[in-house]
Amino acid sequence: MSANTTYVIAGGGLAAARAAETLREEGFDGTVVVLAAEHHLPYERPVLSKGFMLGEKDLASATVLPLDWWDEHDVDLRTGALVTALDPVARTVTLADGTAVSYDRLLVATGSRARRLDVPGADLDGVHTLRDREDAAAIRAALTTKRPVVVVGAGWIGLEVAAAARAAGCDVTVIEPAEQPLLRVMGPTVGALFADLHRAHGVDLRLGTEVDRITGTDGVVTAVRTADGDEIAAACVVVGIGADPQVDWAIAAGLAGDGAVDVDAALRTSDPTIFAAGDVAAVDHPVLEGRVRVEHWANAQNTGPAAARSMLDQDVSFDRLPYFFTDQYDLGMEYVGHLEDATSAEVVLRGDVSELAYVAFWLVDGVVRAAMHVNQWDDGVEPLKPLIGTRVPPERLADPGVALTDLAD
Ligand SMILES: Cc1cc2nc3c(=O)[nH]c(=O)nc-3n(C[C@H](O)[C@H](O)[C@H](O)COP(=O)(O)OP(=O)(O)OC[C@H]3O[C@@H](n4cnc5c(N)ncnc54)[C@H](O)[C@@H]3O)c2cc1C
Repeated sequence: MSANTTYVIAGGGLAAARAAETLREEGFDGTVVVLAAEHHLPYERPVLSKGFMLGEKDLASATVLPLDWWDEHDVDLRTGALVTALDPVARTVTLADGTAVSYDRLLVATGSRARRLDVPGADLDGVHTLRDREDAAAIRAALTTKRPVVVVGAGWIGLEVAAAARAAGCDVTVIEPAEQPLLRVMGPTVGALFADLHRAHGVDLRLGTEVDRITGTDGVVTAVRTADGDEIAAACVVVGIGADPQVDWAIAAGLAGDGAVDVDAALRTSDPTIFAAGDVAAVDHPVLEGRVRVEHWANAQNTGPAAARSMLDQDVSFDRLPYFFTDQYDLGMEYVGHLEDATSAEVVLRGDVSELAYVAFWLVDGVVRAAMHVNQWDDGVEPLKPLIGTRVPPERLADPGVALTDLAD
């Protein structure tokens, strides 16, 4: 690659940092500019709702690459630089302050923004979403007061915050419109196991209802009212109702995609000079059927480098299976595979559910589409990976007498 070529990365999270790192590792000696909206070095987010929220880890532990790295590798990291527009013909992106930055190739890695609740009172002080370091610091500070917490949404982030809030000694109520936590991704059977876990730790789980309004005094939250008419005291409300890709400016400029940026297996968009990675990329997956867009740490960690290689015209076919993990109380799990909607999948359990030591498989039409282990750290996730996309009789999957490593036979 020519030394006077400029590669621009829009976004400053894990995918962006790993892409910049890979460009240099692969010997790209042109200009690399990273335009990052936040005023921090790129950092990883999982710790925000786990170790940091529990008071066990500091935020510095989440930094992807230390400050020295950016200087030593001559990567121009511009923090506080919000990209607001793209001109694919002129090959420029424009920042909020009006600065135009030219590129030869562009990577879109702008991640997601937390969805906000659209009810009266959602803007009161003490009502939070959780996406960045500042959100996490504010919620953690609220937890240390041990005053009541209401979590809206029983998804991963909501449940992790609920667990941290219980550990901090807060009364915790979780409000979820679906009949079980994590319903779409885990289905009703495993969703119910997570419900049991949280109830066993003293969480007041209100399922099948939603928030009607949030009330407060002097601009500060005091309670959440449900659609059922219940009034739940709250000094802190954490809204965890999902996230949306931050790509309005890219889609407005004509890149193909419906709320996210469509890319082929080489992570290239409908414009051959523009690539996408991380949460924003809807990948035409060569192994799984159809387009796959996931909001997972491992996806950002792996698509960032893959997109960088693709920008360098290397052969890339991103065929990794989605992988996800969570930690809640004494449950640690890893999940591999992908289901758009697990509610109607067949679930096979193996092991001891009551002891939080089990494996779950999700099958559709007899084919294993996803698998999860809970606290099975000796085997981990590796023996589950080859099973995805294969047919294994459910009774074999459920039989602890058949080693996980023999199931693929
Ligand atoms: C609290 C929390 C806990 C999580 N826990 C887990 C977990 O346990 N396991 C797991 O697998 N995944 C987890 N995730 C998901 C995982 O963190 C994300 O999938 C991952 O951060 C995506 O990385 P990314 O680089 O695509 O985007 P991001 O990490 O969102 O980074 C994008 C960056 O780009 C910036 N940006 C946005 N728009 C612009 C713009 N227009 N111009 C310039 N910069 C912009 C953003 O401010 C942000 O800094 C968690 C997420 C959160 C929020």
